[in-house]
Amino acid sequence: MGKSALIILSKGKDPSRIENWRPISLLNVDRKILAKILFCRLVKFAPGLLSGAQHCSVPGRSAFSAVLSVREAVERGRAGFWKGYLLSLDQAKAFDRVNHEYLWSVLLWYGLPVRFVEWLKTLYKGAESFPLVNGWTGRPFEVASGVRQGCPLSPLLYVFAIDPFVRRIDRGPLVGVRGMELAAGGPSLRVVAYADDVSIFASSEEEVGWVMSEVGRYSEVSGSRINRDKCETLWLGEGDPAFDLQGTLPEPQKLVKILGIHFGQEGDYHQQNWEGRLKDVAQKVDRWKGWSLSLRERVHLCKAYLIPVLLYLSSVCILPGTLWATVYSLFFQMLWGNRLNLIKREVTYRTRRLGGLDMVNPVVFLTNTFLKINIANLWKERAPWWVISCREWFRPFFQEWETGGRVKDLRASHGYLPAYVAPVLRTLRRWGLQRGEVETMSRFTLDRRVLSSFFQAPLALRDCPSQDLEGGLSLLNSERIPKKVWDVTWRCFHGKLYLRANVKWRSPEERGCPREECGAVLESMDHFLLHCLFNIEVYKKVGASIGWPRLATLSYAEWAYGAFKDLGGRDRRTLFIVSAVVRHHIWCARCLVSTSRKILPLETVYRNIMGDLVKVRSLEYEKWGDPKASRLWRGFSFGVP
Ligand SMILES: [Zn+2]
Repeated sequence: MGKSALIILSKGKDPSRIENWRPISLLNVDRKILAKILFCRLVKFAPGLLSGAQHCSVPGRSAFSAVLSVREAVERGRAGFWKGYLLSLDQAKAFDRVNHEYLWSVLLWYGLPVRFVEWLKTLYKGAESFPLVNGWTGRPFEVASGVRQGCPLSPLLYVFAIDPFVRRIDRGPLVGVRGMELAAGGPSLRVVAYADDVSIFASSEEEVGWVMSEVGRYSEVSGSRINRDKCETLWLGEGDPAFDLQGTLPEPQKLVKILGIHFGQEGDYHQQNWEGRLKDVAQKVDRWKGWSLSLRERVHLCKAYLIPVLLYLSSVCILPGTLWATVYSLFFQMLWGNRLNLIKREVTYRTRRLGGLDMVNPVVFLTNTFLKINIANLWKERAPWWVISCREWFRPFFQEWETGGRVKDLRASHGYLPAYVAPVLRTLRRWGLQRGEVETMSRFTLDRRVLSSFFQAPLALRDCPSQDLEGGLSLLNSERIPKKVWDVTWRCFHGKLYLRANVKWRSPEERGCPREECGAVLESMDHFLLHCLFNIEVYKKVGASIGWPRLATLSYAEWAYGAFKDLGGRDRRTLFIVSAVVRHHIWCARCLVSTSRKILPLETVYRNIMGDLVKVRSLEYEKWGDPKASRLWRGFSFGVP
C-alpha cells in the first residue's frame, strides 16, 4: 500500500531544468479510497479551522475567490487608495518538502483526534516510490517528507501544513489593503493563499522585513523553502516605489502572474490577458482547420475545446468590447472551417428543435460568466472582502437598478474605476438585465434569455408554408437521418448550400453551374435541386430502382422540408431520408466537379447512393426488426445495386 510509481509531467517550460517538471505519484486504488474517505471527514472542518485567507480545498472558497481578491487589491492600488508591494511568494517544491513530524504536530495542534492522525500516518508509513519513465521502473526509495501529488488528500494536508504561516501573516501587524468605506474600520486584505501560492500586501519597509522574518521562521520548522528567484513583486499605487525591497526579493515588475492571470499597475491588464488568451484560441482553431468534421461536432469543439480556454479568465476580466469581433470570428471559423458564413449566426444559436445548431454565442457566454460570478454575489450577506470591494465600485450606479430602475450612466466625475465597470454597466443596460435575473438565473438560463431577446433572427425559409414548418423541423431532427448526410440536409433546409449563386463575392460570369452540359446557367438552389441535367439523370435511375419514380419530379418544398404531396402509402420520414441520401451524393459529386474538375460517371454516383440506402435500410431492420422496419420501408423495392 505504501508503494507508488513516480512519473514526471512537464510544466511546459525549459525541460532541461529539474524544477520545470512536476512529480506525480501513481498510487494504488485501495490507498486512494482510504485517502478519499479521510479527506471527506476532514474537509468538513476545514472552513472552521483554516485561516480565511486560504482559498484552496476549503468548501465555499475557490481559485475564483482567491484570484478575485488579488484583482480587487490591485484595483484599489491602481485607484490610489493604497500604496505598497504585492509580494507573490514561490515555494520551491512545496508539496514535496513538508516535514512529516511537523505536519502531524500541526494537525494535533488544530485539535484533530489522535486516532485520525494515526490513520493519516498509516498512509505515509513505510512509503516508497519508484521512478517510472517510458515504461521502465527504477529502484524504490523511501519517502521521508512531502505530501504526494496525485493523492486526493494531499492539497488539504498541505493547506493545513502552511496554515500557521498564513494565519500569522493574516493576523499580524500588516495594515493591509483598504479603500473608501473599507478604510473606516472595515476589513482589510493582508494575504491571499491558494495552496502554496501566497500573495502578501506590504505597505512599508518594516512590514516587508517582518514578512521575510516570518518566512524564515516558517521555513525552519516546516522544511519549506522560498525560491527567491521565482518570487514576483509588483508596486501598487501611483508613482515610483516609495521604498526599496533591499534585495530580499526580486525588483518590482510591470506585470506579475498570479494564479494564471497577469496583473499590473499601468495599462489595461484586462485587455492584455484577453489578447494573450485569444492567441491560444487562434492556434487551436488553426489546428482543426483542415479536419473534415460535421457541424454538430464543430459545435461541440467550440463548447468543449475553445470555451474552457477562456472560462477562467472570463470570470476575472470581462471580455472587452474591442475584442468581440475577434472572438466571434474565431468561434465561427471553428464552426464553418473557413471565413465564409452563409447562414446567419443568429440562426445557428437556435436550439436544434427550432432549426438551429445549438451553437454557443461566445460573447454572451463569456460576458454572462463574468456577471454571474461578479455581480450575482453583490447582495450576499457576510460577503468576502473582494465582494465588499466590488460593491463599492458599483454602488453609485446600482441604487435605482437594484429596485427595478435603470443602471446609472458613467460620468467622468466618478474618478478612477476598474476597467470592468464600464462594460458591465453598458451590458446590463444594453441587454436590459434586471437585478433579479442576474442574481437568481443560472448562467445557462441567462444565456437563453439574452439570446432570445437580442440574437434571434426569424428563419428565412423559401416556399415554406407555415403548416409545413413544424413538420420540416421534426423531419430535420429525426434521429433516423444518417449523420454524414445531416449537414447538407440542414443547409438545404435553410436554402444555403455553397452554390455559386449563393456566394456573393463571385462575379456574375462565375456563378454558372460547373457542369458543362448545363451551359453556364446560374447555379441557384432551384437549379441544383430541380433542373441540373446530371442530377435529373441520377434521380431517374435511383427512382426506378427503388420503385419511387416521383423522385425525379420533386418540388423545392419537398426537397427542403419533406413536404411530400403524394406519399403513395410510404412513410414520410423514410422518403425524407431517401431524398437526403440522394442529395448528399449529388452534392459530393458536384463539389468534385467544382473543386478538382473531376467528373464522376453516373453509374458511380448511382452505386454510391444505392450502397448507402441499402445500408441505412438494413441497419433499421437490425435495430427494429419486423414488423416495424417493414412498415417504415413499405412501398420501396430495392433492386440489385
Ligand atoms: Zn447544372
